[in-house]
Amino acid sequence: MSTSAPVALVTGGAAGIGWEIGQRLAADGYLVVAADLVPGFTMTAPVEGIVHRRLNVTDPDDVAHVFGAVGAEFGRLDVLVNNAGIQRHRAIEDLGWDEWRAVVDVNLNGVFLCLQAAGRQMLAAGAGRIVNISSISSRGSAGRAPYASTKAAVIGLTATAGAEWAARGVRVNAVAPGYVNTGVFRQGVEGGTLDEATILKRIPAGRVAEPSEIANAVSFLVSDQASYMTGQTMYVDGGFMVDYGIPLASVPKP
Ligand code: NAD
Repeated sequence: MSTSAPVALVTGGAAGIGWEIGQRLAADGYLVVAADLVPGFTMTAPVEGIVHRRLNVTDPDDVAHVFGAVGAEFGRLDVLVNNAGIQRHRAIEDLGWDEWRAVVDVNLNGVFLCLQAAGRQMLAAGAGRIVNISSISSRGSAGRAPYASTKAAVIGLTATAGAEWAARGVRVNAVAPGYVNTGVFRQGVEGGTLDEATILKRIPAGRVAEPSEIANAVSFLVSDQASYMTGQTMYVDGGFMVDYGIPLASVPKP
């Protein structure tokens, strides 16, 4: 079944931010392939314009198979959103090699494998847009060494792929969210691993992002509105990255 609608594949698209991105791109007119480890939608009933495909981004054979099958089934791949990501919280001195490797495998190797698989199809077609999901943790984040390292590496990969493919019709950008109001965030707050009051004090906007605000940035970057943007990382973080972290209240008045 080839389609006249543009096709967008979202990794980790069955839950959280990926699910929100898929819904937004479906509303934008894409046929969305929500490609995830889990076998179906975990948030709601299936939504029109979104199909699910099982994908493990860490498995090169699986990636080759799924991207090949999507190309064969729909006849096109216009957009890839590299969203699948995992975390392991641990001090560096206590971190297990398996924990390090698991995060690198999903957050960096998986991003590379999917970017390469999609990029090959897009280069052959002479057009395509890729958005990789990084994080404000890319600046360094105590207790999250593998997460911070992979999210920083994604920024380097984005810049490099953006430069390599700029003249061949394929744009590659990244979105780096701050804290986002997802199930994972709420579980962290409820489970005591995230202190919401401390986090809110550190965010100039005074609130965490809604998943739709991350999806808005992805929607913009894959649109023609961003036709001259490539290799960039867009921070959607309520001002987190541009602030030194000292509250304005401590600045003396004249
Ligand atoms: P989430 O855990 O809610 O969803 C991640 C999805 O990825 C899940 O559906 C999971 O099944 C899937 N996934 C995990 N491993 C996979 C694999 N090997 N192959 C395919 N799919 C796999 O996470 P989220 O909070 O929605 O985060 C999505 C992205 O946004 C991640 O890259 C994360 O690092 C990034 N991010 C999240 C926040 C936040 O506050 N939630 C902040 C900054 C960046």
